[in-house]
Amino acid sequence: MAEVKVLVSGGHEDTDEGLKIGSTTTLIKTDQNIIVDPGALIDEQKLLDALKKENISPEDIKLVVLTHTHIDHTVNLHLFKNATVYLKFMGSYPGQMQVINKGLLIRKDLLEDTKIAKDVKIILIPGHSNDLIGLVIDTDEGNVVIASDAISNEGCADLKNEPNPMIVADVDQYNESRKKILKIADFIIPRHGKMFKVNK
Ligand SMILES: [Zn+2]
Repeated sequence: MAEVKVLVSGGHEDTDEGLKIGSTTTLIKTDQNIIVDPGALIDEQKLLDALKKENISPEDIKLVVLTHTHIDHTVNLHLFKNATVYLKFMGSYPGQMQVINKGLLIRKDLLEDTKIAKDVKIILIPGHSNDLIGLVIDTDEGNVVIASDAISNEGCADLKNEPNPMIVADVDQYNESRKKILKIADFIIPRHGKMFKVNK
């Protein structure tokens, strides 16, 4: 079974200068170590420290998944120079991978249920953005879903709470994606805040 560890819990804080945000960065330990959403520049040192605690150097990571391409999820990608990066693509094909250190861009279908490693598969959860993907990880405790901005915080898991139109591109898709995640997940890792258990 895979293990999941939140390395950086993404912040969300109103300041005098503006909204200070970062995304959650997660480490999946399975047949290889996978980083999901390397995150924002303000969290770079936090991420390096967390990796060090795990005895992992960024160069050892061979697979990074970007849940989508918003900048608060992606900037620290530069740390993972030997990684192949998986992301959904908004163009005419359904996914791509980039082998960073070779400059190779390869089409790869990232469809519903695409398995990317042992006990780790993709789910499509558009709404916040059209390219949003989540991950379902089979662990000893049950299914952990990395929900990214489909469920930005625990409050978003309550379907009675209306989405904020500022952060949702398509409300109907967003609501469908939330329902889908709640059905699959025993635990959810949101974009910010702690992992939480889904009440079934
Ligand atoms: Zn986003």
